[in-house]
Amino acid sequence: MTKKLRTEEEKEMVEKMIRIYCRKKEGNHSLCPQCQALLNYAHRRLDACRFGQNKPTCKQCPVHCYRPDMKAQIKNVMRWVGPRMVFYHPMTALKHLLRELTPH
Ligand SMILES: [Zn+2]
Repeated sequence: MTKKLRTEEEKEMVEKMIRIYCRKKEGNHSLCPQCQALLNYAHRRLDACRFGQNKPTCKQCPVHCYRPDMKAQIKNVMRWVGPRMVFYHPMTALKHLLRELTPH
């Protein structure tokens, strides 16, 4: 397995979370336009992240780079999906948790 870039991992993670939210919370079969826009936005923010490969998780990140409306949306998603991540993607959740706990 090749080591993935951290921002790429974060992209996958945020995509998983948004997809779970849209499907389970909103009951959509495929990503609705609003969630798609949020996902695109999140990916662009990660591309632009000035921390690059030393990026902390966004919760730890000292730079709050999200636009206020997008920030409110992603917070909503995280709050709803967060406790359910262990169930849907146990490995991803665990990895993220370990990262949050690791001092940087
Ligand atoms: Zn949606």
